[in-house]
Amino acid sequence: MRIQSTLTITFLVMLIGLAAILPLTPADAQDTALPPTPAAPPTATPIPRPGAAQSLSADGMTVDLYFSGLAQGQTGLVYVSGEGLAGARARFLNQLTDCFPGDDGYYCLISTSMEQSTRVYDLDIFGWFADEARTTIHTQVEVGLGKFIRQEVTIPPERAYLIDPEIERGELARMESIFSTFTEEEYWDGTGFALPIAGSELTSPFGAFRTFNDSVQTRHTGWDLRTTLGQPVMATAAGEVAFTGLLDIRGNIVVIDHGYGVFSTYSHLSQVHVTRGQTITKGQIIGTTGNTGRSSGPHFHWEIAVNGVFVDSVQFIQMWLPAHTE
Ligand SMILES: [Zn+2]
Repeated sequence: MRIQSTLTITFLVMLIGLAAILPLTPADAQDTALPPTPAAPPTATPIPRPGAAQSLSADGMTVDLYFSGLAQGQTGLVYVSGEGLAGARARFLNQLTDCFPGDDGYYCLISTSMEQSTRVYDLDIFGWFADEARTTIHTQVEVGLGKFIRQEVTIPPERAYLIDPEIERGELARMESIFSTFTEEEYWDGTGFALPIAGSELTSPFGAFRTFNDSVQTRHTGWDLRTTLGQPVMATAAGEVAFTGLLDIRGNIVVIDHGYGVFSTYSHLSQVHVTRGQTITKGQIIGTTGNTGRSSGPHFHWEIAVNGVFVDSVQFIQMWLPAHTE
């Protein structure tokens, strides 16, 4: 009975999530936020804690998965609890990730890249206790196909040199090196993550297969938001500035480290108001929108990376996260 109601809640949460994402998928090709798409519902109301889609217990430790599977580019939350539990770590896709502490146990964020092969993968949760006992719980997570669209993008002639795959590879390597830092501090609070531009429409979706100027194939590593020039851009959650600079593709960019492997990026800015190492509060204005980098008109490109890979930032901010604890 309990399992059934948990499943029903999980299913409802998934439906709400789907309903929130589906109408946002544009069919248009521009990277300039031109297509008329419905407004995105910002997550202003608190997100309810989901029921566990899967719950496993062994040797005094319980592992709850708040998802039943992950699509390519999605993030999932795992809750680990037990009397006297003193820490937990997750191993998924050959990556070992520290879980962050909550009031009632530990929470692990696991993520898949948009290019992850679709199949079932091992997930191991390692817990250790105050009395030095250790427990491992093993399960599996299915990675399914992401529903990514195809887009044709036209970059104006004076910026067309920026579609060079070599430039893109170099910039991705640079982003990966920024994301490789793992800060064991949970900067975000119980209000979770929010859209960086209030009331802005989401236009071009995460993961889109893009063809630039009829020639070069690439992937869209974030979501685009409709904007004019000079609109204030807010930090999606509290954190510390990990990087600011002018990149070929992303233009003027700010990268914020939110702790525990979570980063957000803000691209094509006209102005940057923060510096590296600066502590940032949620909603703080960090810059203004622009048209710098590989862009064919004023628009805003927003990314979230978890455990070193770009993830669907909209799916991420719609996920329930526990309140911050000290
Ligand atoms: Zn973009």
